[in-house]
Amino acid sequence: NKELLLIPGPTPVRDDIYDALSQETMGHTDPRFARIYKNSIEMTKELFNHPAEAYVISGSGTLAMEMAIVNTVSKGKRLLVISHGFFGDRFVPLAKAFGIEVDVIQAEWGKQISKKAVIEQLKQHEYKAVTVTHVDTSTGVVANIQELIPVVKRAGALFILDGVCATTALEEDMSKEYGQEGAKIDVVLTGSQKAIGAPPGLAIIAFSEEAVAAREALENVPAYYADIHNWRKVMDDPTAYFATPPVNLIYAYECAMKIVLEEGMEARVERHENYGAAIRRALIAYGMKPLAKEEAAAPTLSCILYPEGVEDHVFRAKLADRGIIVAGALAHLSGKAFRIGHMGNTTPQMLEQAICQIGEVLEEMGHSVTIGAALKAFREVLGSKA
Ligand code: PMP
Repeated sequence: NKELLLIPGPTPVRDDIYDALSQETMGHTDPRFARIYKNSIEMTKELFNHPAEAYVISGSGTLAMEMAIVNTVSKGKRLLVISHGFFGDRFVPLAKAFGIEVDVIQAEWGKQISKKAVIEQLKQHEYKAVTVTHVDTSTGVVANIQELIPVVKRAGALFILDGVCATTALEEDMSKEYGQEGAKIDVVLTGSQKAIGAPPGLAIIAFSEEAVAAREALENVPAYYADIHNWRKVMDDPTAYFATPPVNLIYAYECAMKIVLEEGMEARVERHENYGAAIRRALIAYGMKPLAKEEAAAPTLSCILYPEGVEDHVFRAKLADRGIIVAGALAHLSGKAFRIGHMGNTTPQMLEQAICQIGEVLEEMGHSVTIGAALKAFREVLGSKA
């Protein structure tokens, strides 16, 4: 009996991905491994609709965040951070560590930042780049990138998108023009452990031509491992060596990406939208309240406020005893809410199981709930797909 890992990443890993992971380790420059690595990089490019360059290397999402910044913005230049929570905020100390001037617009937790606030801030200074977190994992808020991209590009800044909790569940099409000519996403950075559904450990990042040109305009960057110059030849021909890639994780990533591309982005986007809407409807039926309004709520995870009298550590411990693992909330919401992931390889059956167990735990804790009503709400959204 497996545990159901419904935290907002890492997420459930399918058995075929584990099988790939456990294949015999090959030499990292072995042409047979190089083919697998190259295929993984090509699939990454296909996912983002053919950006100029893509990098898949050992590291977590935070390394990918760092790569996005150090390769495009130099010391003394300005970065605007659009933050919908804890992970948006992370770009502030990260960029400051490299001597970059940083301004931040912070949303009230659970709300989106308005396009107007961004337009106003962009008038104040000349920004080299703007970061937006596609889904902030602390709040379950999805950023309205369709509105923000043209505004940022009109101001002449690079648009950097943190896709760690979004990639493969929300559209991140780097060839698409948003509202005006040339208004495209410049950088998408992500990790392997969320909607992609592979184990944690890979930093994944794609650059547009404009972002590559920004790197070329900087002679040196204050990094070595994170400098894309050092990785370019490896991404082009993985029989080359810069630093040893995580061979087995690449096997797993190749398998996970095949699953992603086979399902197709259109189907994945719809599936995740349905998951988000359905699970929130079910939890609302238990008297719980999502932090974000439905218009701003993410398809990949939900941050759910507890009803009066539900103690966080008791609730989560009781759920864990039943094999369902959810996450606590971060910062000032700690103890007041929990976070549940619904992405990647997660199935409707897994989510139904979670809904039933959550209902039973609430009953055990003295709350009167109707599990049947929650399941009905869930199935109404998913229709015959559940
Ligand atoms: N950005 C977002 C949106 C995240 O959710 C996370 C991790 N939860 C990160 C960045 C950092 O990624 P990692 O923990 O893999 O370094």
